[in-house]
Amino acid sequence: MATATVIKPEHEGTRRHFIFTDEHLDLRESMSGWVKKELHPHRNEWEETLWPNEIMRRAGELGYLGLCFPEEYGGQGGDYFYSLVRAECMSYSGSGGTNMGFAVQTDMVLPPVHLLGTEEQKQRYLVPGIRGERIGCLGITEPGAGSDVAGIRTTAVRDGDEYVINGAKTFITNGARADFCVLVTKTDPEKRHDGITLFVVDLRDENCDTVPGFEISRKLEKMGMHASDTGELAFDDMRVPADAVLGEIGKGFYHISWELQGERLVAAAGCYASCERMFERTLEYAKEREAFGRPIGRFQVIRHKFADMATKIEAAKQMVHATAWRFANGEYPVREITMAKLFATRVCHEVADECVQIHGGYGYMKEYEIERAYRDQRLNRIGAGTDEIMLDVIGRSYGL
Ligand SMILES: Cc1cc2nc3c(=O)[nH]c(=O)nc-3n(C[C@H](O)[C@H](O)[C@H](O)COP(=O)(O)OP(=O)(O)OC[C@H]3O[C@@H](n4cnc5c(N)ncnc54)[C@H](O)[C@@H]3O)c2cc1C
Repeated sequence: MATATVIKPEHEGTRRHFIFTDEHLDLRESMSGWVKKELHPHRNEWEETLWPNEIMRRAGELGYLGLCFPEEYGGQGGDYFYSLVRAECMSYSGSGGTNMGFAVQTDMVLPPVHLLGTEEQKQRYLVPGIRGERIGCLGITEPGAGSDVAGIRTTAVRDGDEYVINGAKTFITNGARADFCVLVTKTDPEKRHDGITLFVVDLRDENCDTVPGFEISRKLEKMGMHASDTGELAFDDMRVPADAVLGEIGKGFYHISWELQGERLVAAAGCYASCERMFERTLEYAKEREAFGRPIGRFQVIRHKFADMATKIEAAKQMVHATAWRFANGEYPVREITMAKLFATRVCHEVADECVQIHGGYGYMKEYEIERAYRDQRLNRIGAGTDEIMLDVIGRSYGL
């Protein structure tokens, strides 16, 4: 056989997926460079202080918040795949809480304002949101209703040219700092799904004071994601203009279900990316750490753990990319998005657990940071729809 016909495995190849163009790769390089330089060094400090609003403004200046929005609103006019690239890049921050605060802005709050908003709402929230000058939050969950969105009790009652909002939201990411909120309410409390209406409302005035009728009732403490603020919000006769309705009255459940698809796919992308970071760090450790006279990675048991993790991460990644391709090409593949979210978050949980295990006692120590990744990732199987709800959506899609 001639030498030229001997094909060797390319373990170090670029592994570029067909959905990504040279422009996507350029962004991956520049944005991950920024994250490594300006976010990663602060990851420990922000666990104590929360990520600062200035970095959202900085990301806005650099164009990273508006990647998929039209240029007329200050965006870059890119396709959906830029959202995946952004999620991948953010994984280099080493701070799950920072990544979550950003994702709420770019993938949960601004997309519904762009899709459903009036021109005035886009100018008021989307444009400054893309610049990072105004920070948003998404208010779905309530103390009495999380998975059961149709069971929410926050009401919006029409009174002349205004709506009067009463109720409470909990577990709201960015809730304690947000300037505005995409708020899920009941305009017809007698109905379940068809009684829901979305609003986009100011939470703070130009002096940054909370608006009348709105209060941050509690700042919640949590297991992980410490760089992110999580608030309980109270609405007590908060008056908003009638044109604060976002989308159609009574169609809010369907609007928010659409929003959740993008949120879930990006959560899945964040998971495979975070797995890759945990894997890289742990691989390095397994090559250096010695036991019984050899690097621990040379024990077959440990080597197979890496093989298992790598296979699962690759499967999650391929699933997200293939589903994102369908989503970006006009399909609405809810079943596959749900599968991708369920699978990627479970893989992330398994990978985090194995990475802690491979680190041994050091995995349990704060200085090795894998313990933080382990705590941070636990939320993924709960937020944006729990595992159980994902399984139910998939099961029901088969007519069961
Ligand atoms: C750190 C953090 C940040 C968050 N950020 C936001 C945010 O920014 N905005 C927002 O609106 N929400 C946010 N959430 C809320 C999150 O989306 C909800 O916690 C999640 O949807 C689950 O709702 P729940 O907590 O009320 O649990 P529940 O709905 O009470 O569920 C409890 C358990 O019962 C199971 N269960 C419920 N219904 C069923 C069913 N039909 N079949 C089988 N099992 C079922 C669930 O899977 C779960 O295991 C956040 C949560 C956390 C922890």
